Amino acid sequence: MNKKAYFGDFGGQFIPETAMFAVEELENAYKKIAKSKEFKDELNYLLKEYVGRPTPLYHAKNLSKYYGHEIYLKREDLNHTGAHKINNALGQTLLAKKMGKKKVIAETGAGQHGVATATAAALLGLECDVYMGEVDAKRQELNKFRMKLLGANVVEIKDGLKTLKEATTAAIQAWVNEIESVFYVIGSVVGPYPYPTMVRDFQSIIGNETKAQLKEKGINADYIIACVGGGSNAMGIFSAFLDDKNINLIGVEAGGLGANTPYNAATLTNGKEGIIHGMKTIVLQDKFGRILPVHSISAGLDYPGVGPEHSNLFKTKRANYYAVTDDECINALKLLSQKEGIIPAIESAHALAYLEKLCPKLDKKSTIVVNVSGRGDKDMDTVMNYKKGRIYG
Ligand SMILES: *Cc1c(COP(=O)(O)O)cnc(C)c1O
Repeated sequence: MNKKAYFGDFGGQFIPETAMFAVEELENAYKKIAKSKEFKDELNYLLKEYVGRPTPLYHAKNLSKYYGHEIYLKREDLNHTGAHKINNALGQTLLAKKMGKKKVIAETGAGQHGVATATAAALLGLECDVYMGEVDAKRQELNKFRMKLLGANVVEIKDGLKTLKEATTAAIQAWVNEIESVFYVIGSVVGPYPYPTMVRDFQSIIGNETKAQLKEKGINADYIIACVGGGSNAMGIFSAFLDDKNINLIGVEAGGLGANTPYNAATLTNGKEGIIHGMKTIVLQDKFGRILPVHSISAGLDYPGVGPEHSNLFKTKRANYYAVTDDECINALKLLSQKEGIIPAIESAHALAYLEKLCPKLDKKSTIVVNVSGRGDKDMDTVMNYKKGRIYG
């Protein structure tokens, strides 16, 4: 067993023999190229000048007053393309270019990772194919159009439920078929090693900046909260604080209609150990080990697995994970919009919704950092049509 491929009991490389060559090539390139000073300088330049980093760590005074605790927001919503996904898409696409690949491919659900990858490919002059389930492509027409406008080719997948799980399977197949010339850009801290490590490292800029910004402001955080789909924005911010046991790390999953109903995507709350997309992790599954369909109002959290490092943080109790429902998320989105004039992505609103549960039970005044992983512009249709007439009525 390749020890470094594991986080405790989770991770590994559960892939066909034909893909072994590609993950080994990637591991070597990641270690040699992505760790070099030249690569880091170039990536940091792009993150600063193109993406707009560092993102602020904003003291949300109105929300702090409302909850009676000091609340700071890490503003990943202010990145170019509107979310944290660009940090990773740019890192992997730059690595693909340095490896001499001609094309990047990506899977996408709602289209956010597809748009981020298409953006990076346009900037760096690589071809880009994005695999997307046919159902998702219909639901997210605007993002499909955006990717095409950016010069990417959108491949619609008609298998199974025609959503993210099938798109990922198709992207893995396409990668294996054209393994010499194609680089597979995975959108979260999932997949076979080295992806969960590499994606975490590209996203760790979120946590590193937060740590430096807290220090500069002269404050200590007691809690760090992030939403968890595959888990990349959460690992990105958690990674800088793993060794500081005074800081409580909280991941918030999509509880959908309720974590105790069949309609949720609360993997760590309800799942069991299993294998999905090349990794051993915790998976939502039935008693025969078949992967369950998932439900969440937020397409970005609608995934039946979770990154293996989160499974390990969950099992070792270094981080705690909770689920919030669609209703709670919409209320949190409305609250931040009206208290601070910041409309968060519905994914990020899950992390904000947990404040409602946490704040009343804290016995001393605490400092809480919430990672606002993205902006809500993409979600206005969903919010407008959610239980129509209710949230503004
Ligand atoms: C995709 C997405 C997520 C979920 O992905 P993670 O890998 O869990 O971070 C969260 N927030 C936003 C805004 C997203 O676009």
